[in-house]
Amino acid sequence: MEKNYKINTKCVQSGWEPKNGEPRVLPIYQSTTYKYDDSDYLGDLFDLKADGHMYSRISNPTAACVEKKIAELEGGTGAMLCSSGQMANMLAILNITSSGQNIISMSTIYGGTTNLFAVTLKRMGVDVRFVTPDMSDAEIEKLIDENTRLFFGETIANPSLVVFDIERYANLAHKHGMPLMVDNTFATPVLCRPFEWGADIVTHSTTKYMDGHATVVGGCIVDGGKFDWRAGDKYPELTEPDESYHGVRYTENFGVENAYITKARVQLMRDFGVPQQPMTCFILNLGLETLHLRMQRHSENALRVAEYLERSDKVSFVNYPLLPGNSQYELAKKYFPNGASGVISFGVKGGREAAMKFMNSLELAAIVVHVADARTCVLHPASTTHRQLTDEQIINCGITPDQVRMSVGIEDADDIIADIKKALGE
Ligand SMILES: *Cc1c(COP(=O)(O)O)cnc(C)c1O
Repeated sequence: MEKNYKINTKCVQSGWEPKNGEPRVLPIYQSTTYKYDDSDYLGDLFDLKADGHMYSRISNPTAACVEKKIAELEGGTGAMLCSSGQMANMLAILNITSSGQNIISMSTIYGGTTNLFAVTLKRMGVDVRFVTPDMSDAEIEKLIDENTRLFFGETIANPSLVVFDIERYANLAHKHGMPLMVDNTFATPVLCRPFEWGADIVTHSTTKYMDGHATVVGGCIVDGGKFDWRAGDKYPELTEPDESYHGVRYTENFGVENAYITKARVQLMRDFGVPQQPMTCFILNLGLETLHLRMQRHSENALRVAEYLERSDKVSFVNYPLLPGNSQYELAKKYFPNGASGVISFGVKGGREAAMKFMNSLELAAIVVHVADARTCVLHPASTTHRQLTDEQIINCGITPDQVRMSVGIEDADDIIADIKKALGE
């Protein structure tokens, strides 16, 4: 938007800004194809000399409006929607990493991302070196070499809820001439904007809070536009000619601010073909219009539930970053002054079996393989999302067998607490 509106306003109104007589609501451009007055213009589009849509595998006007909104919410220069959060992380990495190179990643990340990194990217020749939150900079630096291309972490890790010290790792990454990439799914730009702390690339599973109603799977990559890809010789894919576009150089033709996100779209989205569909973008946008209200309520409810659980003697531990005394409390206060999102985790005394029994006894909260929608839900990570990981990997992800992950919804907190109380047998 032209004016520097606050983020609450941007949630509602950024992206689609209708002109005189146009629809008030974002239209669904359900078209794969676009029409041109002359073929020269189309040639220019294919040469990336003109701005416009060619084919909905690469871009679409409905998607473009939602991309603009998300870029404005994060404070980035551009964004690209894609088919899932998994795809967002994969494309964001492959955009600047090739076979034979490596990346550094926090170990405390989403189980699906751990699989992508430790198995699939590895098979593609990209080595992922995992680091733990307790490692010193010097210890991490031992894993960085001339083939290291980026540093990756999650703002609030799913499900360990470890808070990523964005400023610290941005400094470390920049010292080694590489960008910091942050998966901001759990915090959303309403609670934390990683670019303001030095991050260079932000990714999202829009499936979670951005949609917020558990209706559509999607992902997004946002370019911070500040990282200077030309500074070293590490990113020739952005600074040297792209043969598949008659020698376009992304940094030269699109500027440092747009090189990364332009390449992701015109090269990787063109080649992989994993767009978010117009109808899905429309639904996602409806979710984004209330993101600011929902994140506030999710955070308030989660804190109240966490405070309740902390007082219960049926519970072995409670983990919520903004709970005083939590190991993440200082970092959480720094990065999430307005709330630490809706996910909490806790242990039910009696181990794995007690945790399962508790979950089966809930009525309002449902057992689902999902987090971050309007309805309160629970999951047992050790036997579901992290089932494919070894015990050692599970513990490295910060998970225990008695652990329940609860995604606190936006119902009345009194009702959520009463449901938990009954299921705990209190
Ligand atoms: C769910 C999730 C993903 C994967 O997103 P999908 O949309 O399910 O592919 C990635 N990162 C985080 C933090 C997630 O919670």
